[in-house]
Amino acid sequence: MALPAFDQTLTTLKDSFGFSTFRPLQREIVEEVLDGRDVLALLPTGGGKSLCYQLPALMLPGLTLVISPLIALMKDQVDGLLENGIKAAYLNSGLTEEESKDTWRELYRGNIKILYLSPERLLVEGMLDILEQLKLSFVAVDEAHCISSWGHDFRPEYRALKAVRARFPKVPILALTASATERVRTDIVDMLELTQAKHFVASFNRPNLSYRIVPRLSPIKQILEIIGSHKEESGIIYCLSRARTEAVALDLVSKGISAEAYHAGLTSNERNKRQERFVRDETQVMVATIAFGMGIDKPDVRFVIHHDLPKNIESYYQETGRAGRDGLPSECVMLYSSSDAAKLRTFIDQLTDENERDVSSRQLSRLLQFAEGSECRRVSLLGYFGETYKDEGGNPTRTCGACDNCLTPREEIDATELAQKMLSCVLRAQKHSGFSFGLNHIVDILMGSSVEKIKKLGHDQLSTYGAGKGHTRAEWLYYGRELVTKGLLRINYEHFNVVEVTLQGLDTLKDRTIVRLRAPLVSSALSNEKRKEQRQKLGAFEYDEDIFNKLRLWRVGVAKEKGLPAYMIFSDATLQAIAAKKPNRVNDLKGVSGIGEKKLALYGEAILEVLGE
Ligand code: ADP
Ligand code: ZN
Repeated sequence: MALPAFDQTLTTLKDSFGFSTFRPLQREIVEEVLDGRDVLALLPTGGGKSLCYQLPALMLPGLTLVISPLIALMKDQVDGLLENGIKAAYLNSGLTEEESKDTWRELYRGNIKILYLSPERLLVEGMLDILEQLKLSFVAVDEAHCISSWGHDFRPEYRALKAVRARFPKVPILALTASATERVRTDIVDMLELTQAKHFVASFNRPNLSYRIVPRLSPIKQILEIIGSHKEESGIIYCLSRARTEAVALDLVSKGISAEAYHAGLTSNERNKRQERFVRDETQVMVATIAFGMGIDKPDVRFVIHHDLPKNIESYYQETGRAGRDGLPSECVMLYSSSDAAKLRTFIDQLTDENERDVSSRQLSRLLQFAEGSECRRVSLLGYFGETYKDEGGNPTRTCGACDNCLTPREEIDATELAQKMLSCVLRAQKHSGFSFGLNHIVDILMGSSVEKIKKLGHDQLSTYGAGKGHTRAEWLYYGRELVTKGLLRINYEHFNVVEVTLQGLDTLKDRTIVRLRAPLVSSALSNEKRKEQRQKLGAFEYDEDIFNKLRLWRVGVAKEKGLPAYMIFSDATLQAIAAKKPNRVNDLKGVSGIGEKKLALYGEAILEVLGE
């Protein structure tokens, strides 16, 4: 009988990190690195990128260099590794000379497996000479998109990595990023000379996140409701302006919620303090502009609320992506205001830079199509990134069963008359002037608006002028977009984003075909039944809540004592797993995800004591 082969990678995963399974592509990436080859890894936020270099770093004989742009994160990462008994250190401008010296001493003695470096440090004179004296296993480049000027977060210092590649041609490079655009990817490959590298691209689906978009009616009340269903759980609320973050935070505090504002108008010292309080669970809710997020590694953010419209779909994906990195069910809610959307549209139409207007207009259209659309949120989000959503069995599907549109499909209304009005308005304006117009202008005509442009073009003479007064402007914009989705209208993106009637639209108009459209977005409260269904879809499992809460309380104490964020002691996922298993002996804790050898030895007894109470 052949013995099963000893699986060193899996064993190290279990012993050092306490995980018994890999997240998608982690294993493939780790093995490629162990084989000494260059790798480009694209994993979504929460995909577990850190492990992709931390694990091989432990298994290879030399030192692993990790280049990371976020100084604040380095310390967290190193603290987390030390908690797991892994020898790690960092060098950046935040250290005193004494501390740097200590680190160098340990490095020369070969006492460190993983060294975090800021890219600026690489540029320090003589740095590469010193590194040459150490035995490098490989270089991991975290947030590799920072090297690309096409990316949203270009850091010129990252170009220093070219020198590393030149100086150490034989040392493999592992580039990691959550940024998926093709252009950025090509840039990374060019800059780091990753021509031989295998590319690993994970699905960008975040199976544990739920998406919900509701009309913004009374925002504070709506926000309080969401927070109310997340007792003592962390959340982020994104707002468009600094003033709004302050106002919302103040409102929440007055209702007894522990909330703080965060925006670029605060001093960096103050920002750091607030961020630290959030990471350490001293502040429950961060009300922030988009200045907040990069550099937040907090894995147990349970909800992300958009108080205002995000900039575009990509930003929405990144911002909601900060929820639920630990894999536990977490929710993303957008409070949608169609009048905000209409205001934004007018603002964009008035931009003078043609290129900027075009890009912004297109991004807004796609965002609104997404926000107001009746398609499954997950399907349409992934579709935006060119990915087809597949169910667990790997079959393409159009429903996720966990978003608002899947759980509470919107009612359809008879929109025949509406459609007739709009389609003929588009046609008549075109016929009258000899060219086509944007949706905003068409709605102006329908609403009987008295803006200058209408008069100048003589569009107040059209029979459809003022024919749509029975609906609001926002409703007309919405129905216009729905007609685009239905294929009766088309937006000509190549030509000033004007709307045109399609052949199908012409037929509909001629034959007076019945048109059914989804009613505009409604506030969709989920019944308990539906909520349960949703949690199951998101991968929630049963556990004893009493025990879980006791364990959390215990964790707070330990974290305080050690001066570390609570999640670094144990993640919520681990505590829930313990509360589900209710072990009687220390040894039974071994199989629990997130408990490696070091943590078992450190905390095993204490956990059993808590359970025994
Ligand atoms: P990313 O950098 O890709 O956003 P992280 O490396 O921060 O993701 O990992 C996110 C969370 O997932 C962390 O809390 C980490 O401990 C956890 N994690 C990573 N890999 C696994 C795994 N194989 N099993 C369970 N949890 C994991
Ligand atoms: Zn869905």
